[in-house]
Amino acid sequence: MGLVADPHLVRLINKKGPCVTGHSPDKLIFRSRIAKLPGLLSREVEMRQPLVAGNWKMNGSLASVKKLVEGIKAGLATVTTAELAVCPPYVYIPQVAAMLKGTSVALGAQDVNDRESGAHTGEVAPGMLTDVGCKYAIVGHSERRSIYGESDDFTARKFAAARKAGLVPILCVGELLEERERGITEQVVGRQLDAVIALEGIGALADAVIAYEPVWAIGTGKTASPQQAQDVHAFIRGKLAGLDKAVAAKIQILYGGSVKGSNAAELFSMADIDGGLIGGASLDANDFLAIGRAGNA
Ligand code: PEP
Repeated sequence: MGLVADPHLVRLINKKGPCVTGHSPDKLIFRSRIAKLPGLLSREVEMRQPLVAGNWKMNGSLASVKKLVEGIKAGLATVTTAELAVCPPYVYIPQVAAMLKGTSVALGAQDVNDRESGAHTGEVAPGMLTDVGCKYAIVGHSERRSIYGESDDFTARKFAAARKAGLVPILCVGELLEERERGITEQVVGRQLDAVIALEGIGALADAVIAYEPVWAIGTGKTASPQQAQDVHAFIRGKLAGLDKAVAAKIQILYGGSVKGSNAAELFSMADIDGGLIGGASLDANDFLAIGRAGNA
């Protein structure tokens, strides 16, 4: 395959602005070209594959889940660059795992307990999720934080437990409308990240995904503008870069909050946005696939 036809290179060309780790897109392309020479500087590759993960929340039935997964599978070939993942309600995970077997779509859970096993009625342990084929587990979703009162520390313990079991945590962070209006977005997001870094160390984020989800944009139809989202993503990557540049360059930072087929491409074109965590639009196969295609190179 010629260099320019490489989907990742084209994607990098399409990215807007220098990425926060300080490398211009040209430099990234240069580095990725170098990395194509066997054995040369391969550690310097900074390409991040987009990830589009659907959070189905507490929706579905055996019949609707079947229809949704069949629809995703039918259009999967049109999504050429992004990894797709779906996070069904726990009870439907085995059904979805069986249907997705042999496809490239990854499976995730919407939450996870912070313990390995024991007397925790109603909870699901991280090892149970790997057992049924999950790759990802969302932790710290704003609905867990606000409706179920889950703290930064509890979220950090879930993050740690997920990693320990071999899951890739998708750590959700984001501010309330009132916090944005008070000008403390970075303080809030920084505090949410700090809880995980304090418990697990910065190195743990090398095997994780962050989802920036402004709470005021979740399920409201209000999307952060691409620049508003990019500003927070750049803050997150910059904060991580201050501790470990390699982790900051590697980690996928997703945007979540009323992403649709019509606004995904512009959001994903921003330098530090590496895909999306999708709620409502992930319940419709065509909408979800359209968002996946927005990541196409
Ligand atoms: C979410 O709940 O993670 C989310 C982003 O929801 P929505 O896309 O519906 O705003």
